[in-house]
This record gives sequence, C-alpha cells and structure tokens, in this order.
Amino acid sequence: MFADLHLHTCFSDGTYTPEELASHGRRYGFAALALTDHDTLEGCARMGGACEAAGMEFIAGTELTAEQDGNELHILGYLIDTQDPKLLEEIGRFQAVRQNRIREMVARLNQVHVPLKAETVFALANCRSPGRPHVARALVQAGLCSSLDEAFERFLKKNRPAWVPKFKMSAAKAIDLIHHSGGVAVMAHPGLNRADEAIPGMVEAGLDGLECFHTKHSTATAEHYLEMADRFHLLVTGGSDCHGMNKGKPLIGTVKLPYEHVTRLKAKAAERKAEAATMHSPS
Ligand SMILES: [Zn+2]
Ligand SMILES: [Zn+2]
Repeated sequence: MFADLHLHTCFSDGTYTPEELASHGRRYGFAALALTDHDTLEGCARMGGACEAAGMEFIAGTELTAEQDGNELHILGYLIDTQDPKLLEEIGRFQAVRQNRIREMVARLNQVHVPLKAETVFALANCRSPGRPHVARALVQAGLCSSLDEAFERFLKKNRPAWVPKFKMSAAKAIDLIHHSGGVAVMAHPGLNRADEAIPGMVEAGLDGLECFHTKHSTATAEHYLEMADRFHLLVTGGSDCHGMNKGKPLIGTVKLPYEHVTRLKAKAAERKAEAATMHSPS
C-alpha cells in the first residue's frame, strides 16, 4: 500500500480538479492521497469526497509559505482541522496578501506598458490563492508572452520588472498554526531549499517531519534526509508535488510512499490533537 502526500489542484496553482486528481490517484493504485494546496484549505472538502468515491483514504492538508533566516520554506500541515477558526483567519489574511501582490505585479507590468488587468488574472486563477504562475498564464493567454518561461524570464523572476517580494510568516509561526489545528507539521522538499542549517531550529519549534521523498530529490538526497529524520526523531513523508499539467507532465505516480509512514503520521496527529484540545480548553 502506497500514498502520495503532496498534491496540488486548481484550488491553488495546479490544473486538475479534485475529481481529476483522485481519478489519476486511483489509476496508480494509491491507498491514500493528501491535498496540500498552497496557503488554502478550500479544496479539501471536495477532494475528500472525490477520494471517498474512488475508494481511497483522504488526508486533509495544506502547504504554508514560510521563511527562516531569509530563506523561503514550505511547511506541510497534515490531518489539520480544516474548520479551525484561527487557522482559517490566518489563511484568510494570507490570501488577501497574495491578492494584493497580484495587483502590485499587474501595476508594475502596466508601468512597463504591458496591458494586463488584475481581474484577468483573478478570473483565470479562479481560486483564493493566486500566485505568479497565474500571472504567467494570463500573460500567455492574452498574447503578451509566447510562453510561461518567457513570462518569468522577462517579467516575473526575481529582480525583473514585475517581481514583487512575497510576504511570508516565520517557519515557527507556521508550525504553531498547524499544531493549533491539531495537525502535523512537515518541512516540504528540504533538498530544494538547501537550508539544512535551519532544520535544528525548526525541530526546536516543534517540527514533526521531513519530506524525504520528493520528485526532485535524488536517491542520495532522499537518503541524506532519511538519515537526518532518524537523527532528529522526525517522521518521514513523501509526495510527487504534482501540479497537473502546469509544470510539464503530471508528476503523480513518481513518488510512492509506503503506507507505514501514513500510519505513523496518523499516530502523531492523534498526539497533536490531544495537545490542541488542552490548548483550546478554557481552564
Ligand atoms: Zn513547495
Ligand atoms: Zn507543493
């Protein structure tokens, strides 16, 4: 039995609907799928239904954008309470910041005489967590760029005319928020961040696991993080980080996490839920 614990849908910057994603997951024979859209929980209800209909276990999740020592890091939250008011409030604030960032990117594009409208980007994104990939797609659809690569190279990459820095919460705050909603906090794709020195600090802040298996991790990278997870007594997770057709070919199926890791994740979530309940109790 296998799981894919890192997946995106059209509720963030993926192209698949929850139903499409679940049907791909079923085709690959997964026992469990987790949804980890960026800074949103919006897709979880539908993904839960789609997984149930396809006979797979669903694990509610999100991928929070955070930073530590100036580096952008992504913190995965699993088995969170998707109705937790504090989490929803923070996420709502985050989404407003993302939407303002889109408006600012569009204003900068207009300054260099690229006639794009923010509403075009929002309509295309059709989600509450729009980001740069949506701006790139809007530029291509409007015929203002010939490809997504060109959009990034000419306008959207760091230090290009329309680049706007992204607001990020601290990694410790992201971990706290996840714990507050009874979830388990896991550092996503550590091999892409090359921020190993940040890991001990995050462990102190309560980090529960490392995403050792990821499409872009080589075998040596996976082994490096497995060793680190062992050293810091952290859970091991893994997933494809599939964004549908957005980043070339669909990646679902490239990472198959043995189900025993899901069992451990659930045991940890039970502990975190008990802790969250005591945090919330008015004593
Ligand atoms: Zn990520
Ligand atoms: Zn991701």
